[in-house]
Amino acid sequence: MFSHLTKLPADPILGLSALFKADPNPEKVDLGVGVYKTADGRTPILGAVEQAFVRLSKEEGSKVYIAPTGWPGFTEACAELVFGADLRSDLGGQLGAIQTPGGCGALRLAFELIALSKPETTVWVSTPTWANHVPTLAAAGLTHSPYAYYDHGSASVDVDAMLNSLEGAAAGDVVLLHACCHNPTGADLSMSDWKRVAELLQARKLIPFLDMAYQGFAAGLSEDALAVRQIFSSQPEALLSYSCSKNFGLYRERTGALFVKGEQKDAKEALVTNLAQLARANYSMPPAHGAALATTVLEDDELRASWIDELGAMRSRVNGLRRSLAEAFKKEGCGDRFSGVARQTGMFSLLSLTPEQVAVVQKDKSIYFPANGRINVAGLTDENIPYVAKAIASVV
Ligand code: PMP
Repeated sequence: MFSHLTKLPADPILGLSALFKADPNPEKVDLGVGVYKTADGRTPILGAVEQAFVRLSKEEGSKVYIAPTGWPGFTEACAELVFGADLRSDLGGQLGAIQTPGGCGALRLAFELIALSKPETTVWVSTPTWANHVPTLAAAGLTHSPYAYYDHGSASVDVDAMLNSLEGAAAGDVVLLHACCHNPTGADLSMSDWKRVAELLQARKLIPFLDMAYQGFAAGLSEDALAVRQIFSSQPEALLSYSCSKNFGLYRERTGALFVKGEQKDAKEALVTNLAQLARANYSMPPAHGAALATTVLEDDELRASWIDELGAMRSRVNGLRRSLAEAFKKEGCGDRFSGVARQTGMFSLLSLTPEQVAVVQKDKSIYFPANGRINVAGLTDENIPYVAKAIASVV
């Protein structure tokens, strides 16, 4: 049965972590895996989450199964965070929600729902997009088409080219969009760009699917949700996959949610029961712990305020590192070649480097990031920025 299977190569990003660990160079820098890091290289448990854990350990009292839709109150708390109270209330019974194992679980379940409803759907993905999008939609039996997105020259979104490629989509196709902090480029649409995208979606009857894994990392919790709010208020149908991995630091607890807006006023029942059935056939019900922690934080005024502060501190640190790196590149004589790093948002920037240049930086300077040039800005520190800027400047 299994004897024809052969060993697969390591995942390009997870494989880098292993190489980094094995490298004895004391100056080595890990800009690979997309996790937040402190100045001393740790990915800590947030204080508010730790306090919620203490509370929960006294109050939880049972590990009996939770419902396939998730921990009580979790999706509602996330819905309010992302849609805001007014839009949440306007969406009413049009909105179906289910807790999922992380943002990846939400993506997979959404693609399965799309495949169940209309198997021939094409999903349009940005060029480039997060490396797991296409494998996940393909695993659900869907096909994809690329749309133009990132312009290396200006280190920003080429919205005209984007809209031009989406003109080729057929009515009913799904357009996968990054709600904020685009992975891997760090380049987001402006609000006026989003308006143009929304008009095109509506005119061509395309269905937006927003993937949100970094709410709070660009400009703030509400600011980062503006695109989601605009799309969900203007389009008859829409999907949103939501991850608590980064903004709550809950990575390994696999905490996320899927929201689907249906056209009918009472769409919710059909959406939720179908999603629950898909979840049942996959993993039955999502893990409870992370969602219980996030719900405890969001439902308690003090813990919520403390979490918002901690998230703000993570955001400021990453944005500060962006500015410092852009300045360091200038000092190294790179001109404006990498100045986009300061304008981009979230954990990532895509540096215009060839795979060969990335390999030299890794081999000679022990700086680790994937061959496409995506750096995790959170892996930088005030101390290593001059070293990184010099090493990269030396190969361009
Ligand atoms: N979407 C994007 C764009 C991401 O970057 C990530 C995390 N790397 C996810 C979804 C999924 O996150 P998780 O499954 O870890 O919650």
